[in-house]
Amino acid sequence: MTHSHGHGDHVAGDRGFDGMANVTMVAATPEALQKAFNIAQWPEGQGSIDLGGRVIDVLPIPGHHPAHVAYYDRATGILLTGDHLYPGRLYISDFPAYLASTRRLAAFTEGKPVTHILGCHIEQSTTPYVDYPIGTVYQPQEHVLELGRANLLELLAELEKMKDKPVKLALRDLTIFPREPRPGRGAPKK
Ligand SMILES: [Zn+2]
Ligand SMILES: [Zn+2]
Repeated sequence: MTHSHGHGDHVAGDRGFDGMANVTMVAATPEALQKAFNIAQWPEGQGSIDLGGRVIDVLPIPGHHPAHVAYYDRATGILLTGDHLYPGRLYISDFPAYLASTRRLAAFTEGKPVTHILGCHIEQSTTPYVDYPIGTVYQPQEHVLELGRANLLELLAELEKMKDKPVKLALRDLTIFPREPRPGRGAPKK
């Protein structure tokens, strides 16, 4: 069992797998991910896992979280992007790392089929450019989860423009949301 990254909302159920037969847990740390997926260089390299005639590519994409990875399923063309890219507020903890990771994701997917990009949250509404208020628990008319490679390329283009001065920016299907480091408050939980 593995994760996109180590934030609490993604690892909270881990203990339910404790002691289960035939389950290997991969911790959400660069070291454990490198070992499990044979990633020689973090974050520039890439690794993979063969599920049995079905290869999943694993790409390090730190920036939202230091131990973030994306998974690409060659059989379906689905790219799983965790909290790096989804239709909502993309919380960026380390902007230079996030930009470099987005560049690598765009380069990796060039020339490959990308049927859907699936992330882990939805905070956009179906109204273009509009996300729900932070903390809302009611989201009528929510954006669909799936995004496409065009969203990845648009994200990259906007990040490149703001690379020296990260700012919050609403796009049609997502919101770029750089985070200030908050000393003493610990890492963002999401
Ligand atoms: Zn997260
Ligand atoms: Zn999350």
